[in-house]
Amino acid sequence: MIIRTELSLTLLRDHQAAIMPAISPLLITGDVGRIVHEVITLAHKRNLINSSNLHEIAGVLTGFNLIESIYSGCGGYCEIDAKNIAISSEYSLINKKLTLCHEMGHAIQVRSGHFDKRTLLLSDLIREEQQAETIGYYLFKALFPSVTPKKEWFSVYFEQSDFVFLRNWYGEYCQNDLYKEPSPTL
Ligand SMILES: [Zn+2]
Repeated sequence: MIIRTELSLTLLRDHQAAIMPAISPLLITGDVGRIVHEVITLAHKRNLINSSNLHEIAGVLTGFNLIESIYSGCGGYCEIDAKNIAISSEYSLINKKLTLCHEMGHAIQVRSGHFDKRTLLLSDLIREEQQAETIGYYLFKALFPSVTPKKEWFSVYFEQSDFVFLRNWYGEYCQNDLYKEPSPTL
């Protein structure tokens, strides 16, 4: 059940988002929408628009510490308990910005209480990633208005192959309620 709050959504919704297949305003529930709006307002107050100081953006806007390092297998992740956002140091600046916005989406989900309520059903985990990606889109658009976002930048976690990736990433912790697993070959 998705509950929409018109007040926050009217501020966030835009036509471009509605026609991007990977980005749906329907994924922004009212509680999350309010926090995204607060974060964007704070960014304006603290002169963090079009800034390249990604550490300051992460710290001021989410309270998470940004770590840049070399990672294999993924370009970034968010450590909920340690309050770290990790981003691949091998990424270009634009990819770092995109990844930061997605991971800040997870930090916002922490603030909205999402992580206290979530299940480990694969369908729930996918929705969580799609929501983080959608939050990332709104954050990117607001924080870096000098760059026009491209559709393909916000398509992760909307394809079947991404579902398989996520299933493998969580392994035994996640319950697959979406597709039949291939039977193990002997
Ligand atoms: Zn994610």
